[in-house]
Amino acid sequence: MQTEIIPAESSFHNAMTEPMPVVEIFSQGDEIVTGQTVDTNAAWLSEQFVLAGFHVSRHTTVGDRLDELAGLLREVAARADFCVCTGGLGPTADDLTAEAVGLAFDRPLECDPEAERQIEAYFTRAGRDMPRANLKQAMLPGGARRIDNSWGTAPGFALQADRCHFAFLPGVPFEMKNMFLESVRAQLGLYWNARPLRLVTLRTVGIGESSIQERLESVDFPDNVRLSFRTGPLENQTKLLFQPDVPIERLRAFTKQVAQAIGSPVFGIDGLDEDPGDLLDVIGRGMTRESHRLSVLETLSCGQVASRCAGAHWFIECTVVRDHVQALAKLGLAGPSLLEKSALLEGAASLAQALRRQAASDLAIAQLWDFDQDLLAERSSVVNVYTALAATSAVYTDHCTVGGTRPRKQAVAATRALDLLRRYLQGIL
Ligand code: ATP
Ligand code: MG
Repeated sequence: MQTEIIPAESSFHNAMTEPMPVVEIFSQGDEIVTGQTVDTNAAWLSEQFVLAGFHVSRHTTVGDRLDELAGLLREVAARADFCVCTGGLGPTADDLTAEAVGLAFDRPLECDPEAERQIEAYFTRAGRDMPRANLKQAMLPGGARRIDNSWGTAPGFALQADRCHFAFLPGVPFEMKNMFLESVRAQLGLYWNARPLRLVTLRTVGIGESSIQERLESVDFPDNVRLSFRTGPLENQTKLLFQPDVPIERLRAFTKQVAQAIGSPVFGIDGLDEDPGDLLDVIGRGMTRESHRLSVLETLSCGQVASRCAGAHWFIECTVVRDHVQALAKLGLAGPSLLEKSALLEGAASLAQALRRQAASDLAIAQLWDFDQDLLAERSSVVNVYTALAATSAVYTDHCTVGGTRPRKQAVAATRALDLLRRYLQGIL
């Protein structure tokens, strides 16, 4: 049975009018303090608390030392109302969290028989013998409430010490996130009257955050919406964080206004009606809906378009060639003008058309670039990327310049090709 994280008799149960709780996040482990692992757990948990309408006051981290762990736990217990602690629940000698809690709050460890049963069942399901060391994970501080872990071996636990409600979760991000969402979040909402914020994310490709910002200059942002940006290797995101008092119709209308201001780079919007998934999910739905088939000729991206489409039933074939001369030879095309470096966009268009005719697909993408190794290798140089998409009725082309490291240039080229396809499928070419 899943136990409650915060007991019903909690002093916070009727705290509807009291000030917001002080929330802290505590990450445990040498690998975090020495920089070998980036503390993504704290970042993710903070985002969850902010979305739920809470204020996070502090992140702290200590390594695998019993005295430091116990000391920090006592400090947090005295100053915070709620703390999520991640890591150190495993079976190895460096996993000290339960022991440190026992030491800090004078609660000697006791075996939780249900935890022991669950750990044994986990190994039985996995068809493996249980190492004896794993039984350590069933030892919880006296009086702690177990938090079941359906995603791994280590159960978490919760307890109150001094003024603070603690929830201890495993360090493995996948387990931690699922356990937080399943067990901890709902309990928080029961005992504190926070009003969740609403996060809407506009997902874009082919545009940088400074250009997005420029396009948004014409939009008047009300006080109850906070704007932020997140850049990633495959897409950029524009985040709108709405206060709870914004009516849903107003939220929809404002999001639409922002999406229009950014324009065609927006491939999907998360957090409104349906989440669109990533660029490939959007493309996959469009390809399936229209029963399209795609063939690709890649140069700079060296198969990265194909690799992102791996397994899709609508993806027919991919050819990777060194340069435009080899591409023309491969497709049996001739003509001196197509061999001109100054005519690479036209060359890409001719190649896409030829590929479409020869392959069993109604859509074909061909991509060329400067074919200059020095420009490619030099981080501060940009390369020109020329992409063409041949469809039944027309050929669409796209030219862009890409800078950065060689892998970045290759990845952006692949994304650019896929985005031309996405814009075709969404009817915005
Ligand atoms: P395990 O049973 O795997 O030992 P655990 O609860 O003891 O789980 P840790 O040993 O602290 O957790 O961490 C396990 C793994 O989880 C780490 O090797 C690391 O990859 C990841 N991890 C731990 N803490 C964090 C964190 N704060 N942010 C991101 N990843 C983390
Ligand atoms: Mg561990």
